[in-house]
Amino acid sequence: MKRSEVDRSKLSPMMQQYMDIKDKYEDTIIFFRLGDFYEMFFDDAILASKVLELTLTGKQAGLDERVPMCGIPHHAYASYVDELIDKGYKVAICEQLEDPKEVKGMVKRDVIQVVTRGTRIDSNMDSKDNNYIANIFDFNYCYGVSYADISTGEVYATLVEGDKEKVIKEITKNGFKEVIVNDTIDREIVERLRTNHDILVTITKEEYEEKDYQYIYKNIEDVRIVRTLKHLLFYILENKKGDLHHLQPCTIIKSSTYLEFDVNTKKNLELVETIRNRERQYSLLWLLDKCKTAMGSRFLKYSILNPLTSKETLEKRYDIVSLLSTEFILRDDLIHCLEQVYDLERLVGRITYGNLNAKDLIQLKNSVSVLPRIKEILQELKYEKKIDTFEEVYSLLESSIAEDAPFTLHEGGLIKEGYNEELDELKRISSGSKDFILEMEKEEKERTGIKNLKVGFNKVFGYYIEVSKGQCNLVKEEFGYERKQTLANCERFITPVLKEKENIILGAEERIISLEYKLFMDIREVIKRYGKDLQKTARIISEIDMLQSFSVVSDNYKYVRPTLTKEKTIRLIECRHPVVEQVMKDKYIPNDVIMDHTTNILLITGPNMAGKSTYMRQCAITVIMAQMGCFVPCKEATIPIFDKIFTRIGASDDLVSGESTFMVEMKEANYALQEATENSLILFDELGRGTATYDGMSLAQAILEYIHDKIKAKTLFSTHYHELTVLEKDLKHLKNVHVSAIEENGTVTFLHKVKPGAVDKSYGIHVAALAKLPESLIERADEILSIYEKKSIKKETFTQTSLFELTEVEAEPKKNEVEEKIKNCNPLEMTPMEALSFLYELQKDTKNKR
Ligand code: ADP
Repeated sequence: MKRSEVDRSKLSPMMQQYMDIKDKYEDTIIFFRLGDFYEMFFDDAILASKVLELTLTGKQAGLDERVPMCGIPHHAYASYVDELIDKGYKVAICEQLEDPKEVKGMVKRDVIQVVTRGTRIDSNMDSKDNNYIANIFDFNYCYGVSYADISTGEVYATLVEGDKEKVIKEITKNGFKEVIVNDTIDREIVERLRTNHDILVTITKEEYEEKDYQYIYKNIEDVRIVRTLKHLLFYILENKKGDLHHLQPCTIIKSSTYLEFDVNTKKNLELVETIRNRERQYSLLWLLDKCKTAMGSRFLKYSILNPLTSKETLEKRYDIVSLLSTEFILRDDLIHCLEQVYDLERLVGRITYGNLNAKDLIQLKNSVSVLPRIKEILQELKYEKKIDTFEEVYSLLESSIAEDAPFTLHEGGLIKEGYNEELDELKRISSGSKDFILEMEKEEKERTGIKNLKVGFNKVFGYYIEVSKGQCNLVKEEFGYERKQTLANCERFITPVLKEKENIILGAEERIISLEYKLFMDIREVIKRYGKDLQKTARIISEIDMLQSFSVVSDNYKYVRPTLTKEKTIRLIECRHPVVEQVMKDKYIPNDVIMDHTTNILLITGPNMAGKSTYMRQCAITVIMAQMGCFVPCKEATIPIFDKIFTRIGASDDLVSGESTFMVEMKEANYALQEATENSLILFDELGRGTATYDGMSLAQAILEYIHDKIKAKTLFSTHYHELTVLEKDLKHLKNVHVSAIEENGTVTFLHKVKPGAVDKSYGIHVAALAKLPESLIERADEILSIYEKKSIKKETFTQTSLFELTEVEAEPKKNEVEEKIKNCNPLEMTPMEALSFLYELQKDTKNKR
């Protein structure tokens, strides 16, 4: 039964209420609170029952048929919401806004929040990862992009000038899971984000126009960024509804502040996850993350994806890393303090938004308790930024919140003794009365002579005196016992004295719980005022945590402080790939990358598996690490500050786009050629191999010439077209290097050592043999190779213009090939058909020979 087809006039009042709410939240699944359950109806129920494997039932709602329904217990809703969100749905939580006991008729209900991929703030979130909600606002050839992490309050915005490719790259590089777009946007962008990148995209046109959150964009002059932020804010506030004043004033990202690269570089260099199984383990992030706080880990990830271009800031970071490495006792002290700092950013989020419990406040107290020491350490390090120590917050929490407070706020046990007089008095009454109960049990046993008499309590009947069935005959009229409950083996009674005491105890306990809750909320209000300052301190702690991590990693793995030069020179001595090195341990061979100011291109030749891509990757990773403020995996390192990195490495896995690998490769190359400047770094690995040999070789040469003459960016270009190495003669800023291998008794050993000059052997067949292809196949490949080797004698005459002439050389079969074939065949084992085709082949070979 479809919701749209229902005669609404016939519906029960509750179902009408449901329909009215659902009308406002068409694209969400509504969790509709009914007593102890969240129920789903109509299409929501049919869908959720499938996705969540729930039983689909029905509800009488005034119609002829029952309305499809499924439900979940309210206390277990979080995991169901998570599952739906992970699968890309939105969930609206619709609560009862009144206590059903206190209302006649229908309870008021409304949606208290909509949970989506980008707006979740539950405790199951990955603490080491930010969760951003982003938007795109299309200004016609310029896009506003802003994004916020609702759990930490960070807000960023930038402008992307250019076409849709650029904005798609901006979104995918940052790994956003949910994006809102304005309604005039090119629908191809929406389609590609949804289909190719599995991003939840919502089209909305509303913009925030109220006053409350204006502070987020108040100081921004560019009206395009302001509009972008208003567009994002509307969606966030509409969905989250609660207090979001922990959202911070927006930080504008200027592209010149950061080393730019796109999602392919992020992927190819395995910066935050590996290509093979998309896991954090064995990525650069994994290697560098020795952070002690979740905030530090998140900041580190942000820094890997947004390295800096300011020499001054980088030098300051190197100074701290270096100082922490020499002052290692101080560093240990810092580490020890950081270990006690919880996720302040997300704590502030919870304090403001309201989903806070007493354990969070204990965490906050423990965190601020170490801030004075951290402040001293930062002073000793001459760290330029200063943190607050929040002594008032500490003493408030220390005096108020019980160490062993429970997670829930409605059970009591939150507040320490001595914080509030009224509370202490109530607790005295409550516990004093409990002593009275024990006392009473003793007295009643003596008074009545009933030995196994007990005084007990249960939630339904309150306090009672229990006498076993066997001794019930001993209960006399004069005792004043009133029968309350009969069980299988005992009777329960109450007396006026007990009833009176019960009222005092229960009254006190009820008041304790409500007073504790009120006090807790008051404390929260006080702490909330420190929110913005706590966020600032949290930011500084994240940075210092990242820097101590750099220092630890640099010590452990023997990294050096890089020298940032204004010259256009790269000098990396004994450079290593930081991750491969750790996985291989001492087997890793360091290599130099040397490009003086006259060398812009290194043309790298060498057999497959020799280590060409690893060499290129380690160079780019070194640059990224240096521009994060980290030491680098070299014995000595001098680099300029780069503005952008472009990479085209390995096969593309962009299968969903429906474009051929070669097309994707050419698009990537084009992107680099369009966007690179002379201050960029380009890595092209085997560019052009996706097409026919001479096609690919010609393209590769033309691209090299273009970079050489027009772009002048530092470029590492690997190729197996050895013919290209002659370019060194004509292109004066191009240098050949090669990775060598040695061949002995038909097997090949890779030395992984990069040396000057070119290499002219490919060893591809040896690699195939190592990969255990059938022996006969390998022999045949060797045979074909020798044919090609003979015909490429003309290679010597290769010049830039003669590249295409090579196609004219004809293959020449071996002289004795026909004879060999006849010798090797066995006519007795041939069918007539096989004999005929054998003869046909011989004739063809003989003709070719002529
Ligand atoms: P290519 O790009 O030349 O085909 P790769 O860079 O993919 O080769 O390297 C092939 C393998 O060689 C890598 O998986 C790695 O294990 C190993 N390797 C690469 N460089 C080194 C090195 N410098 N030292 C030791 N092993 C290396």
